[in-house]
Amino acid sequence: MKKVIFATNNAHKLDEVRKITAGLIQLVSLKEIGCNEDIPETSETLEGNALQKARFIHERYGCDCFADDTGLEVESLNNAPGVYSARYAGEAHDAEANMQKLLRELKGKENKTARFRTVIALIWEGEEYLFDGIIRGTIIDEKKGSAGFGYDPLFMPEGCDKTFAELGDDIKNKISHRALAVKQLAEFLSATTNKI
Ligand code: IMP
Repeated sequence: MKKVIFATNNAHKLDEVRKITAGLIQLVSLKEIGCNEDIPETSETLEGNALQKARFIHERYGCDCFADDTGLEVESLNNAPGVYSARYAGEAHDAEANMQKLLRELKGKENKTARFRTVIALIWEGEEYLFDGIIRGTIIDEKKGSAGFGYDPLFMPEGCDKTFAELGDDIKNKISHRALAVKQLAEFLSATTNKI
């Protein structure tokens, strides 16, 4: 089975993606290849950041690899916080402060439509591929639920009366932006590896 590096230091993501790609590829973590470097993420787009991270690893290790980047895009805030989702309220990457800032910015606004978008950049046999996963929903006025992370207590997916934080990881991981992007990656790998 072909080895593919997932350029992330997030053990939770690694575990989730490993389950979805089981049997298709041998997923290798940064830790397993001995990479302790801080991978730069300086682009102004999710696509740019995902590509930047994948190219960084590909240039150093010369292996097939992929990286992801995710953002919450709120329609009435011109798609903010978007690529700046982790540091919306500052460099501390504080989820609580980020949510409070989002609630302040949305106060009085009628349109609270939002979407999570994950972009995956894959470098496979020297070629670059992009996949994305989107889930639409609404930002509610106060936090609900305690599961998940980031903006989960404020995000209610379309057609649902619970937030991601109320739905819990098992359901969220089946319908989320990240799950949809990884599914596309898995379908590509499945089609490609079957041809070999
Ligand atoms: P990353 O690119 O996956 O590290 O995501 C960047 C930021 O987006 C995170 O720090 C969170 O603030 C937010 N985020 C990403 N995915 C989720 C999610 O599934 N739920 C809630 N917030 C998320």
